[in-house]
Amino acid sequence: MIPSNRFPTFSLSLPRWIDDALPHSDHRYQSDEEKMAAVITLARLNVHHGSGGPFGAAIFDAATGTLLAPGVNLVVESFSSAAHAEVVACTIAQTTLRTHALSSRGRYELFTSCEPCAMCLGAIPWAGLTRVIAAARDEDARAIGFDEGVKATPWGDVMERHGITVKCDVLREEARQVLRDYSTAGALIY
Ligand SMILES: [Zn+2]
Repeated sequence: MIPSNRFPTFSLSLPRWIDDALPHSDHRYQSDEEKMAAVITLARLNVHHGSGGPFGAAIFDAATGTLLAPGVNLVVESFSSAAHAEVVACTIAQTTLRTHALSSRGRYELFTSCEPCAMCLGAIPWAGLTRVIAAARDEDARAIGFDEGVKATPWGDVMERHGITVKCDVLREEARQVLRDYSTAGALIY
């Protein structure tokens, strides 16, 4: 495809600090809690480094327990309201495997530091994921002023209809604390 000369190219780049924030790519995570702890660390560091909002996500290979792609909220940094951590992680995973459908390459699970918003709930099934695991709840994000959009409730039913299993409240308190700290610091809510 020949790119347009008239309109800008859209690209997403993960911040450089993320390279050192995660174990080696061969690392096999042993539990949902270990995977979620890594994702919450990404959310915390994203705020610490000023690269985006207090949300992190990652795609893991369900068979091996290895991390395929991290994601952090890059909405403000990338001038894109779509650059939520979940969408960023899915896009990095799809780019890594060079496919728009992760299901064509294996079983992949999304860990997210906060329940998906209305937009991400729409994006997740199209990415070809088999499982979604969330830490903080929708109400925890709303409590500090983030708008999660109009969602079907319970949202897990929507995922199940697409054959995606859901697990909530994994390390919820830890993820909630990142949101609280962000709010206390008076950072941008959008
Ligand atoms: Zn979202």
